[in-house]
Amino acid sequence: MKNKLLKKKIIFFDADGTLWYPIKTKHTILPHWLYLDKSIKDYHPHLMLIPGTVNTLRRLKKMGIITVILSTHPHEKDEAYKRIDKKVKHFNLGEFFTEVHATREYHESKGEYIIEILKRLNIPKTKAIMIGDNYKWDYKPARSVGVDALLVESDYMKKDKRLKTIKKLYDIFNY
Ligand SMILES: [Mg+2]
Repeated sequence: MKNKLLKKKIIFFDADGTLWYPIKTKHTILPHWLYLDKSIKDYHPHLMLIPGTVNTLRRLKKMGIITVILSTHPHEKDEAYKRIDKKVKHFNLGEFFTEVHATREYHESKGEYIIEILKRLNIPKTKAIMIGDNYKWDYKPARSVGVDALLVESDYMKKDKRLKTIKKLYDIFNY
């Protein structure tokens, strides 16, 4: 089978730097500076969808692939879910995601969520893949629990030939 994605039933997406990024810095520096800048009261107008995001999600929906957001938030759980839900709503992406989760602020958290969700939906690890822009927060946690991962290339992640990377989100269809 040429397109490996056809073997997948579920895709886990990181959000910041993967689906959207700060308008000002795009993929040049780590995106979370936006949330630390105390002079910015509402960060939503400072974020934009990365070109290709909607087309990618639309195509995945047509393919019947389950899509889940796993986005690290340092706030307590209720506040964290409120924030990620608000961002999804802001970008009108609600229809494209089966589940949206604000994961905890430690590196293994996304791996724990992946395991819990796969068990609950009765999907084997081989049928899942994680896509993110950060090695420590996205790629490694997925690989550590035995799930495939793809890293979106950026200026802030060192190029490493051992990692599977994509230049644009839409490249997941040719990986
Ligand atoms: Mg990210």
